[in-house]
Amino acid sequence: MKYVSTRGESTGRSFCEILLEGLAPDGGLYLPERYPRIDAATLARWRRLSYPELAFQLLSLFIDDVPPGDLRELLRRTYTAEVFGDPRIVPLRPLEPGVFVLGLSNGPTLAFKDLAMQFLGQAFEYELARRGRPLKVLGATSGDTGSAAEYALRGKRGVSVFMLSPHGRMSPFQQAQMFSLQDPNIHNIAVQGVFDDCQDLVKAVSADPAFKRSQAIGTVNSINWARLVAQVVYYFAGWFQATASDADEVDFAVPTGNFGNICSGHIARSMGLPIRRLVLATNENDVLDEFFRTGRYRVRTAAETHETSSPSMDISKASNFERFVFDAVGRDPERTRGLFAEVEQRREFALTSAERAHLPEFGLVSGRSTGADRLATIRQVHESTGEVIDPHTADALKVARQHAEAGTPMIVLETALAAKFGATVHEAIGIEPPRPARFAGIEALPRRFVTMPVDVAALKAFIAENG
Ligand SMILES: *Cc1c(COP(=O)(O)O)cnc(C)c1O
Repeated sequence: MKYVSTRGESTGRSFCEILLEGLAPDGGLYLPERYPRIDAATLARWRRLSYPELAFQLLSLFIDDVPPGDLRELLRRTYTAEVFGDPRIVPLRPLEPGVFVLGLSNGPTLAFKDLAMQFLGQAFEYELARRGRPLKVLGATSGDTGSAAEYALRGKRGVSVFMLSPHGRMSPFQQAQMFSLQDPNIHNIAVQGVFDDCQDLVKAVSADPAFKRSQAIGTVNSINWARLVAQVVYYFAGWFQATASDADEVDFAVPTGNFGNICSGHIARSMGLPIRRLVLATNENDVLDEFFRTGRYRVRTAAETHETSSPSMDISKASNFERFVFDAVGRDPERTRGLFAEVEQRREFALTSAERAHLPEFGLVSGRSTGADRLATIRQVHESTGEVIDPHTADALKVARQHAEAGTPMIVLETALAAKFGATVHEAIGIEPPRPARFAGIEALPRRFVTMPVDVAALKAFIAENG
């Protein structure tokens, strides 16, 4: 399988060549040159497979430059009951008649990002050993991505992590989760500023190609193709658990920020998985809901971006969205380039009515959920089932109910456990959410981090001195 860029370059590259990359050289995003089609007979065969074996069968369709034996072994090491707390890896549970919850958040950091990041950690270690050279991963986080990356890369040979976070601004649980890591290859840098300062520092370092090359700096950001392809697997696993026969359709509801998770659902559907609707849920930061209602993509400024109680969906623009747009305009790279040039110039584009007429083929529908909706949904679920769901999952459930259809199972993706967002859950139901035993008392563990002013030179010096 070769990969193309959404802006037109047919790069001729295979999976391992783009594994450590961010954007394609022409500024676009990588996608496979085509989506493999899965027929009914293959689906029937896959129904019996364990999660790691299903992952192997699926990923083999996109990865042809890792020997099959190595890939299978790597996936067996990634998706274990020890790491994900359940032999099914992503257990499905009924919530109310016709509605199910797919548990994606039982990994090391209690958020769905572990499912992709744990694979990325194994793949990085494998590929860097093959290349015989080390890599320094640099990133900025306000919470989930940074901790998932650190738990995936801790102790891995050939790779170290430099993760910037805004000093004192993450939730106490998230801080404890990251800063309690004692692995020598993990460097937590608490920046005396806000999240935007952290991102600006990463951009400043990335804008120095000589430093980047001499220090072998890489990233694990949300546009990484390996993360997206790993996420395709749980759409299949969820579908198998919710259906009995190989023609049954389901709906998925996805709490959405950067369009990574739901892009994987779009790929699964494009491969022929019987998905009727992909229900995209936003919070008050509704740039994507607006697009699916109007055909108009209007990115927001920092000042227009709301700080909400589902913070992992607080986005001003959606970094993976270009992948969907490329498919939606018939994989026309000129048109895609033109549309995103408009975003650069005037912060928005609108599809033509002919282009809009094609959108229903993709099965995406959308809706928006507010702070009041989150609280009400968490409360209602707790009252009627005794379960405690997190604010992001609550956004998805709220929008899912608007689009559910009798006879089609609605699968809501649980992207975090409530334990990560104790304050909001407490506000909704007056009690602290249950916390898995392994996280008992983490706030009291010793912490390993450095603080740093917003200073590019100091950051570069720190990176150069540490491995
Ligand atoms: C990252 C994240 C999201 C948003 O996922 P995208 O792939 O960016 O759309 C939703 N919920 C939680 C808990 C997350 O960590």
